[in-house]
Amino acid sequence: MDLLEDNNLTRIIRGNLESDKLHVCFGGGVGAFGRNFTVFYYNGATIWVDAGCGFPSHSLPGLLRTIPPKELLEAFPPDAIIFTHAHEDHVGALPYVYQHLGEKTPIYAGDFTLAIIKKRLRDCQIDLNYFEFVPLTKNSRFKVHDFEIHNFFMPHSIPQSFSVGINIARAGQKIFFSSDFKLQGSEKNYDRQAIQDFGPVDYLFCDSTGILTSGSSPDESLVVENLENIIKNWPGRIFLTTFASQIERLAEVGRLAKKYNRHLGIRGQSIVTHLEAALEARVLTESFWYGRKPDPEQKDVVWIISGCQADEGSSFQRFADEKLPPLKPEKGDLLIYSASVIPSNTDAVFNVLNKLSRIGVKIIGLADYDVRVHTSGHARVEDLKQYISWLRPKTLVPVHGDHIHFMKFHEILGENHGIDVKILDDNCIYSLESQANEIMRIPAIPQMIEEKEIHTEYSLYSYRLNLSVSGICNIVVREENKRLEQLQYIGTSSQEWLKKCTPELHKEISALLIKVCNSTENNRDRKLKQKISKINIGILGKNPYVNIIWI
Ligand SMILES: [Zn+2]
Ligand SMILES: [Zn+2]
Repeated sequence: MDLLEDNNLTRIIRGNLESDKLHVCFGGGVGAFGRNFTVFYYNGATIWVDAGCGFPSHSLPGLLRTIPPKELLEAFPPDAIIFTHAHEDHVGALPYVYQHLGEKTPIYAGDFTLAIIKKRLRDCQIDLNYFEFVPLTKNSRFKVHDFEIHNFFMPHSIPQSFSVGINIARAGQKIFFSSDFKLQGSEKNYDRQAIQDFGPVDYLFCDSTGILTSGSSPDESLVVENLENIIKNWPGRIFLTTFASQIERLAEVGRLAKKYNRHLGIRGQSIVTHLEAALEARVLTESFWYGRKPDPEQKDVVWIISGCQADEGSSFQRFADEKLPPLKPEKGDLLIYSASVIPSNTDAVFNVLNKLSRIGVKIIGLADYDVRVHTSGHARVEDLKQYISWLRPKTLVPVHGDHIHFMKFHEILGENHGIDVKILDDNCIYSLESQANEIMRIPAIPQMIEEKEIHTEYSLYSYRLNLSVSGICNIVVREENKRLEQLQYIGTSSQEWLKKCTPELHKEISALLIKVCNSTENNRDRKLKQKISKINIGILGKNPYVNIIWI
């Protein structure tokens, strides 16, 4: 059956589901980082675990975010959504996908996550009354039809992140979905024993982000200790940039500033938004970030600056460009880079850091022999082994990573571990029995978000990419006599080269117009475009987008 030709894909998908079997399907989060979206389906009921955004590479110009494919959203409207934590790759799709939810669909999450979600929905002018928000506390349990759901708070790099245990007594199956986690941290509701008591499980869906790093993911307290030494001893101004979601670290910086009689300044709305959400969720008890704004010249200040990934227009980027008045970087300042560089942002981040370095700002946090001022929120090899031993899964499904990360589970578990490591694909429905059986591949691609539009095709981006490399060739032709009235190239090559090539281009294209237009061929414009492309490549050495205008 050719699924693409059937306009009722939802009906076909639903027809393939067996009511007495548990099914799983990913709309992202497996095979590439980001866009975490997992659907569990059993006996007519559907739950979503997270609905996050993906962050596209620069090879797709203009694309801001990706969200799960609409085919999955339509086929699996949820009876409930569980948001494991408030990172964008787990909650960011909600404002774009909420139309697929019935009114008052329950949304389960920790208080902090709910506070962030509500802020995002409000920012998008979406009525909060459409949803039913259900805050989860330590070891909450609730039922959604046959799904009996437990949550287990875990340390991560944002408050109130949790793993999800799913028990389906009727199907005789237990599932554990780790979400993002590490084992060392100060999450106050972390209960190792409760996790061990939930095991053994049939399936463990396990975070693989930290699997390429040996040892254990260090506790945040180590970072705080190092920050204290720096803040205590540095004689001049201190600037610190980190992820806005690192509430624990931000609060510690606030505490240390006070302890060492420094003023605290914050630049960047995303940090204030996260701190306010933490206050609303009672993760923080005092609003240490308000008060008199420090004088920009003052030496006894710690400035927290948002935008550690050097996003366009971020405070961090503007600071380095001296466009964050009245703050200006100066020789003798210290910048604590309290973050990791996400690989796709390496150029942008180093560009900003080099600008600061040239001004004379000392930078800490990039060299591996620098004192540690950041720690990952993800479990590393030893943590993963321990976590797996607590849960004793029959099958382990790696998530939150790409194929290279996933394959490493075979290695870290060693031989004869008795655990079946199963790598699953996105846009594919599996029934989870003693094995994960693929029952259907869905022809779907992620939806693509631009400022005010959602695209469902990649072709626009390949056009754009080509435009950025080769420009446009505008050809104005008089319909009456097929005469070439105007030949114009925009962004294709230098004026000198164009000047040199234009007589020949004019001659060849004019001759072609007469030839093609006098023939009886169909698809006149398509044929012309193809042939003009050949002429352009032959003479100019470039293949600009050909735009024919008939007058
Ligand atoms: Zn994540
Ligand atoms: Zn996360």
